[in-house]
Amino acid sequence: MGGGRRRAAWSGAALMVLAACAAPPLDLGAVAARHPALASHFGHRLRDLHPYPWPRSGRLAWLTCRFETPSELGVALPPDADPAARRALRAALAALDSAGLGVRFREAPPGVARITIRLAPGPVPTDTGPGLGRATADCELLDPSAFEGGVGDVVPARLAGAEVWLARSLPGVPFRDRSELSEAELAAVALHELGHALGFQGHPEGGRTVVARLPATFSALGRAVLAGEELRDATLRALYALPSGTVLRVDSVVRARTEPLDRLLVEAQRRGFAGPFLRVGDKVARIGFRAGGAEAASLQLSEVPALLRGAGGLVLLPDPRARRLLAGSEARAGDLLP
Ligand SMILES: [Zn+2]
Repeated sequence: MGGGRRRAAWSGAALMVLAACAAPPLDLGAVAARHPALASHFGHRLRDLHPYPWPRSGRLAWLTCRFETPSELGVALPPDADPAARRALRAALAALDSAGLGVRFREAPPGVARITIRLAPGPVPTDTGPGLGRATADCELLDPSAFEGGVGDVVPARLAGAEVWLARSLPGVPFRDRSELSEAELAAVALHELGHALGFQGHPEGGRTVVARLPATFSALGRAVLAGEELRDATLRALYALPSGTVLRVDSVVRARTEPLDRLLVEAQRRGFAGPFLRVGDKVARIGFRAGGAEAASLQLSEVPALLRGAGGLVLLPDPRARRLLAGSEARAGDLLP
């Protein structure tokens, strides 16, 4: 997408981080030993990634997930986008096209698109309160058997699809002369959220990457995007240099803590549900199963940053449908008892 972009490379240097938290202890040295391609993306911030959690049989594996490459991903633009919003979104997609990830984008109808972009009239609800945007990217586990390997091994997984919500306006913010986001602001927010949609969850505390928290001056980033400058983003490049499903960390936990998923998986397979699909954000992660395209049951993990510091407190909280399935499986197990 795009073309005619300027030669001057835009490095994302304007991005910085406003919030700080401890870096998750991922053993990237061991990952790089297995996947030497990682070393060529100097300055990447993969250590700040929130990997997708995969808790099975007394082990919690944390893995990367991304779209397959090379690929051309269908993207559905919002049907209600005005011309300025359309220009902003196309510019953000063109910037990511130029980033050397191995993914390209083409516009597609919502039914077949892998990434769907939507506009919200006001602030978008997120894990951490109302925001400028939100992205969810669902990782499909292609082999849900218990993971027995170690860091650097690969679990078959891929991003199935992603959804991006963008705020079109921010009413009531002091020192803004209008509530609607400018074309440049929208382009910057779109680029950031599309970075999450491509599989990078969490917010690096620094580094030149679109997934770092947006600075107050994010319209400068948007102007660079609209000018068609090439995107250099070592962090997204590093994510795409690893096979999808690369295990970045493994924790041992008490077996009872993974039991809700171990049992739900059996029930889901009995019923022919699709999945599991993993999702992770700043604070919350979930593992869902689908039937007929809609979610049929899910487990939630809260306090992802705390889990990354220590997995001992892992809790898999079933939603009401998962609770019913688990209660049914318990009853059947009870039938087998003498
Ligand atoms: Zn973000």
